[in-house]
Amino acid sequence: MRSALTHLACSKCDAPYDADTVQHLCRCGAPLLASYDVEAAARTFTPQNLAAREPSFWRYGELLPLRDERNRVSLYERMTPAFPLTRIGAATGLPSLYMKDEGVLPTGSFKARGAAVGVSRAKELGVKAFAMPTNGNAGGAWSAYAARAGMEAVIFMPQSAPAINRLECVMAGARVSLVDGLISDAGRLASQAIAERQLYDAATLKEPYRVEGKKTMGFEIAEQFDWNVPDVILYPTGGGVGLIGIYKALRELQTLGLIGKRMPRFVAVQAEGCAPIVKAYQERRTESDFWPDARTVAFGITVPKALGDFLVLGALYETNGTAIAVSDDALLSAQRNVAAQEGLLICPEGAATIAAAEQLRAQGWIASHERVLAINTGTGLKYPDVPYPQPALLARRSPTGARASEGEAPRLR
Ligand SMILES: *Cc1c(COP(=O)(O)O)cnc(C)c1O
Ligand SMILES: [Zn+2]
Repeated sequence: MRSALTHLACSKCDAPYDADTVQHLCRCGAPLLASYDVEAAARTFTPQNLAAREPSFWRYGELLPLRDERNRVSLYERMTPAFPLTRIGAATGLPSLYMKDEGVLPTGSFKARGAAVGVSRAKELGVKAFAMPTNGNAGGAWSAYAARAGMEAVIFMPQSAPAINRLECVMAGARVSLVDGLISDAGRLASQAIAERQLYDAATLKEPYRVEGKKTMGFEIAEQFDWNVPDVILYPTGGGVGLIGIYKALRELQTLGLIGKRMPRFVAVQAEGCAPIVKAYQERRTESDFWPDARTVAFGITVPKALGDFLVLGALYETNGTAIAVSDDALLSAQRNVAAQEGLLICPEGAATIAAAEQLRAQGWIASHERVLAINTGTGLKYPDVPYPQPALLARRSPTGARASEGEAPRLR
């Protein structure tokens, strides 16, 4: 299983770049994407071979950038399950509603995919320290993999980012700076530190390999759906790297001849409080504007302006997909429904895809016979502060006045 990586190519102007030295953005300012020798990969990247390999995304080695397995930095990831949401599906009029649950990955979100591949490849290229701005889960994942790799992580995080992500980064030994501002402000400070200290820039899409890790979601989906991809894929979109990755993976599988011409219709799901991609999509534009006053409980999708917005929008147009914004009320209520009816505590971002599926079914955009896959990007356990109905608090004294104090053996009557 040898990487068939050949070079990097600009996602906008197609300019080629050497893949075996450190690269960031193209001269034109757009992200670079990895290109592979698909014919070479096709010789061993077959359904039969894949099925016999280890049950993690590392099984897709031909189409991953790592040249030497000894550089692999792993927390022993597993393929994540894709399974039917039977009750929610029935209630929504979508009998073939599925969820892919990324919450079971190390650090509790799909960010582990990007971090595992990104950190491994950085290590392979000789990187000793990197910096990045983060809203939360990416910092947590990259800090963890950096610790595993013995690499230095320099993290810039808005002060308002969840305490749990701060905890993850600090515990993993990252050098964390809190920023009084938004992710965009954290980005400016990260860029400054990168220039001053010559650190590797690991910001979203500013290095080409995070998206290669996230791409593996698409390979897993194709395999789990027996090479007959779903009709619709709903993805909670912030920077959009996951959606860009899944789309890239499916295009590569088409080139390999492993899936047919039919693509799933991609749906970018955002929160009403931060919906730049949805707005651009509605205006049929190819790029988005900065979204002022971004605000939602789904902090993983609080990205006011994504560097890869044109790639997300391109995937939506090319697959006859759509973009939809849901309210925080709708996504929080979907989160409770999925927990109560399916037993899964999913993250608010993932819940947004369920709320979106309901709305798109009601509008007739999704037909009842279609196979619909919602991506749950993380575990709900990382969100202890979401609002939920509080249980009643019982008094320690019973109404009769009998005391049940600690330390005393219960008295028998
Ligand atoms: C980062 C994140 C997202 C958004 O991911 P992108 O691929 O960058 O759009 C969604 N959900 C969770 C839980 C996240 O951490
Ligand atoms: Zn370019």
